[in-house]
Amino acid sequence: MAREKKANQVTNNYGASMEKIVSLAKRRGFVYPSSEIYGGLSATWDYGPLGVELKNNIQKIWWREMTRFQENIVGLDAAIMMHPRTWEASGHVENFSDPLVDCKDCKTRFREDKLPPEVLESHKCPECGGELTEPRQFNLMFSTHLGPVADSASIVYLRPETAQGIFVNFKNVVDTSRVQIPFGIAQVGKAFRNEITTKNFIFRTCEFEQMEMQFFVKPGTDEKWFEYWKEQRMKYYIEQLGILPENLHFHQHGPDELAHYAKDAYDVEYHYPFGWEEQEGIHSRTDFDLGRHGEYCGKEITYLDPRSNERYVPYVIETSAGLTRSVLVCLMDAYHEEVIGEDKKGNPDVRTVLHLHPNVAPVTAAVLPLVKKDGLAELAKDIHKELSEDFNSFYDQSGAIGRRYRRQDEIGTPFCITVDYESKDNQDVTLRFRDSMEQIRVPRAGLAARLKEEIRKYKRVNHE
Ligand code: ATP
Repeated sequence: MAREKKANQVTNNYGASMEKIVSLAKRRGFVYPSSEIYGGLSATWDYGPLGVELKNNIQKIWWREMTRFQENIVGLDAAIMMHPRTWEASGHVENFSDPLVDCKDCKTRFREDKLPPEVLESHKCPECGGELTEPRQFNLMFSTHLGPVADSASIVYLRPETAQGIFVNFKNVVDTSRVQIPFGIAQVGKAFRNEITTKNFIFRTCEFEQMEMQFFVKPGTDEKWFEYWKEQRMKYYIEQLGILPENLHFHQHGPDELAHYAKDAYDVEYHYPFGWEEQEGIHSRTDFDLGRHGEYCGKEITYLDPRSNERYVPYVIETSAGLTRSVLVCLMDAYHEEVIGEDKKGNPDVRTVLHLHPNVAPVTAAVLPLVKKDGLAELAKDIHKELSEDFNSFYDQSGAIGRRYRRQDEIGTPFCITVDYESKDNQDVTLRFRDSMEQIRVPRAGLAARLKEEIRKYKRVNHE
């Protein structure tokens, strides 16, 4: 326990630690422990008012990038429960397991492949020093029964990934939409894994969300498309989510890490205070999936190229990102404790700010009347209503203006709009930028267009 607490307190160079992120997430309504009134349920989390906005924004950006800005990618929303043969064909029944070891003394359970080499060598528990059991394979799929009879014939699994819903619908999509290879199918949805080690907040949970895209290509062109998608996906994290480039890198899977279906695989990894960890997998899956589903359903799944009349089983390049894990990456990367001067007693004045990209910030603009009286509240509410057409706008009239700015900084609101007495006479307002804290006077008319322009050219600025 003491070990874990210490790890939670390790900070990155902007002052973010897991402990601080968890605390801010709870305090400001991003993420709550699930079923908290009953003492919580291990490794399950609920997304609060700000968390759900952040998560939805990330999903919207991903969907927009994939389906609107890429040629030839269409969407899908498949069921969570699928025919059990799906998971035999995909290899999950046979292979989707982690090696598990237990401590004979304190009974703590570990994933053997995540234990440090010295523990593997001594075979002693990292928590209490007790002896560890021999590893045994533990399947990560949750099973339940479909229908009233709970026998072996009624077993179904909660999907451990969204990808298989795409593969089993390949023919449906080809037959009903006008897609031609190369084309992709994108899907966002819940996935479930009975994970053995679930520490680190929302990093690894048993119920989570994935954003996956399978891109179907002609065999022989797969290496070119693999490179293309690697580049696109890294660009997305930096340009669309605003993640600092120094906190991202690729990790190529070595021969012993490659999944049973993969020809090549790269992870986009993020630099957490506790080390580099996977955020997204980019996998070259060959014709494994369509080939296996063809075999298991008894009917080959192929594609007939209308231009060349060639028939073949397409190869697949997959991009598989965690949506809930993206929420953690965004929070972790945006968090900054900044000294911005001195308080009245001469102590450093530290503000906590989330430098969230405006694309994902839960609140885009906060509209703040300097005072409630003399018609300023009405004018500010009017502006708030107008902005709500295009953005998530928030109205706040309580407390000193400096305090209201700080509250918005802490949740990552990129723009504050302050309405004062001059606003009534001149029809202009103060626009305050979260990152630089710069304030400028801008006309009230065209405010939404101005914010869109500011979002388009947004570049993160940190106060050191
Ligand atoms: P790991 O090695 O961390 O267990 P994985 O290689 O099994 O992950 P994939 O099957 O490639 O992960 O899943 C794709 C993405 O889904 C991951 O990059 C991650 O963002 C997300 N993901 C996977 N498992 C979990 C989980 N238990 N909780 C939250 N997100 C997850």
